[in-house]
Amino acid sequence: MIFCMAMSPARSSEKSFRQQAVEFAALLGGEKSVLVGSHKSPDGDALCSLLAAARILTILSSRPVCVVDGQIPERFNFLPGADQIRSLAQLTSWNFDAVLTVDCGSLSRLGALADRIGSEPLLVNIDHHPDNSLFGRLNIIFPEASSTAELLYDIILALNVPLDVDLATILYTGLMTDTGGFRYSNTSSTAFAMAARLVQAGADPAILAQAIYSNNSLHGIKLLGEAAHSLDLSAGGRVASMTVQQPEASEELEEITDFALTIKGVRALALFRLAGNTVRCSLRARGSHDVARIARKYGGGGHQKAAGFTWDGSLEEIRIRVLADLREEVEEQLENIPAAEKILPTPPFKRGE
Ligand code: 5GP
Ligand code: MN
Repeated sequence: MIFCMAMSPARSSEKSFRQQAVEFAALLGGEKSVLVGSHKSPDGDALCSLLAAARILTILSSRPVCVVDGQIPERFNFLPGADQIRSLAQLTSWNFDAVLTVDCGSLSRLGALADRIGSEPLLVNIDHHPDNSLFGRLNIIFPEASSTAELLYDIILALNVPLDVDLATILYTGLMTDTGGFRYSNTSSTAFAMAARLVQAGADPAILAQAIYSNNSLHGIKLLGEAAHSLDLSAGGRVASMTVQQPEASEELEEITDFALTIKGVRALALFRLAGNTVRCSLRARGSHDVARIARKYGGGGHQKAAGFTWDGSLEEIRIRVLADLREEVEEQLENIPAAEKILPTPPFKRGE
């Protein structure tokens, strides 16, 4: 069967994207040993981008080694090649010709891997975070892409890499997870076109949705209970906050974080996770609110609607500060809610409430 495969409209017309894809192949292909890394505590897009990139490099006759700092959430173990992703401890020697990072906005997001990678001269950086610090020799950065998986899909099309069932499964999972199961505002027509091609190539949407979203542990559901119990609304019901005691990042945390955004009227939220002496803060927003700039204020970063940071101080202090920042964010934007968003429920809200 022959599939008609179209690259994203934004990138198919962009000569520079094709040039970048060709440069990617020239720098990393041709029998090189390539370390492929992504951000600490990897999420679906990070893992799927690692695995997709490794397959492209193998097709280009190179030898990829995928490495991440942190545990791979169990629910991703089914992904073809997941068993070949190494932890830092498993990396006994460092003998690479080049390094590729995927879905990673800055070197520091690589965690302990950053100390080893920082000095690599041949570094390629593929990402969709708008605050990417362009730390590579080649930087393929498209913030309008739904996911880094989407960028790898476009590289596959540009380089005519064959799309088999395994690659389709990997890319579909990356796309699905970074669009929150095709619900977030990055769920563009491009994302759906890509999903359609991947399903044609053998990705199974129902099975993959179940593997990711209906695979919770009892511990995860109890953590959801703890988060729900701690829920607190402020700013007239527009800001939610939750706190959980959980030293380790848990794979269910992502869903737990998003869950408070389903409360009618909530436009922004913070989830605080107490992990030893540090506090991990996850921020989420809906509509046009921007939580990335709040995360940046505290040394973190991320996307407009999903951002985070780590705080080495007291929970109470950071809670007060972040809730004040979120309140200001929802107050400031009050008069400017775009017409399309007016269908979302917004409770009456008086300034200074
Ligand atoms: P989460 O709340 O799931 O940990 O993070 C949401 C998003 O925020 C991530 O996808 C990532 O883009 C960004 N993010 C989270 N923590 C940090 C951080 O400490 N630094 C930076 N630069 N970005 C972060
Ligand atoms: Mn991503």
